[in-house]
Amino acid sequence: MTSLLLKGGRLLDPGSGLDGWLDVGVSDGRIAAIGPDLPADGAAVLDVKGLLVVPGLIDVHLHLMNGLGAFGADPDVFGVGSGVTTVVDAGSTGHSLLPVFRRYIAAPAKTRVMAYVNLSTLGSVAGAGYSTLADPRLIDEERIEQAVEANRDMIVGIKVMATGAALGPAGLEPLRRARRLGDNLKLPLLVHIGESWSKTAMPPSVGDVLSCLRSGDIITHMFTAHPGGLLDSNSRLWPQVRAARDAGVFFDVGHGLHNLNFDVARKVLDQGLKPDGVSTDGHRGNRSGPVYDLPTTMAKLMALGFSLSQVVEMATVNAARLLRREDELGSIRPGRAAEISVLRLEEREWRAIDSQKGTIAARQALTPVFAVRNGEIHEPLPSERP
Ligand SMILES: [Zn+2]
Repeated sequence: MTSLLLKGGRLLDPGSGLDGWLDVGVSDGRIAAIGPDLPADGAAVLDVKGLLVVPGLIDVHLHLMNGLGAFGADPDVFGVGSGVTTVVDAGSTGHSLLPVFRRYIAAPAKTRVMAYVNLSTLGSVAGAGYSTLADPRLIDEERIEQAVEANRDMIVGIKVMATGAALGPAGLEPLRRARRLGDNLKLPLLVHIGESWSKTAMPPSVGDVLSCLRSGDIITHMFTAHPGGLLDSNSRLWPQVRAARDAGVFFDVGHGLHNLNFDVARKVLDQGLKPDGVSTDGHRGNRSGPVYDLPTTMAKLMALGFSLSQVVEMATVNAARLLRREDELGSIRPGRAAEISVLRLEEREWRAIDSQKGTIAARQALTPVFAVRNGEIHEPLPSERP
């Protein structure tokens, strides 16, 4: 494995508190040195003058069972092909398909692939909108525990769809079963809110959903405009939302085809609730819009008022914290695996688009230049991003 020297870039690593013109040396796939004007010492020099060097970006919510239904995307498309070094599948597979996911999806990928195991044995096999949790037999704690124990390195939590369509007549009992299972396995839940796949099903109230969660669990789709979101009919945050935040529940963006709405985002942000994580909810059906990729989703948050440093923090050290991997991911430190994203920050005017085709003015764009993982340089794939 050749040594690399990323020379002349702006290293921005909120997890380490670093923001400055610092070179980064990589040797044997690990971070060897960080400092100003590092000598090449035989390493291949990568000129990153004027570019941003950040810890490998982490996208915590995607659909990566490549080939499954209309959604399953190739991990490397939203991963290293988008300047992202870690991608996390959000419950495409239940316990029974995990070995298939591991062997045919995660193992061959150039991107680090992790996964939330779906509480339902069906996972996404039938497609969104099906009642995957109504039949209590579709939740098999024993087999989930076995699958998790066999895949601890890859599994970061349990995915639960808290929608009326998925829960059906079971109400919140599946969520309570998931929480008990999470306790046993010491894993957080990733909970989808927003009745985005059915016009007739009634979602549980977000207050009731939150009452089942505990510190470290994650609500995804915090800016959804669909029923079951964080705002009441007067556009006020449900009181249980603040209580949950104070109790340590995390809130993630989960953009997707349906669930980033700029009006909702403004109302939520104006009431003081900020995202802990930024994620694309990327799949095969939204890569060419409205989602595109993680850097574009980060730039949309910048258009909503967040700073560059804040969105990089969300997509690196915060994301690692959501995954409970902050001691290995999310920061550039000597000795750690060298997972690095190099981005270009451009000052230019563009229109950021949300899931309902609403637009806002954006003045800065973020585009991937290359990613480093396993000592290799990965160029981004062509994209139709705005
Ligand atoms: Zn999703």
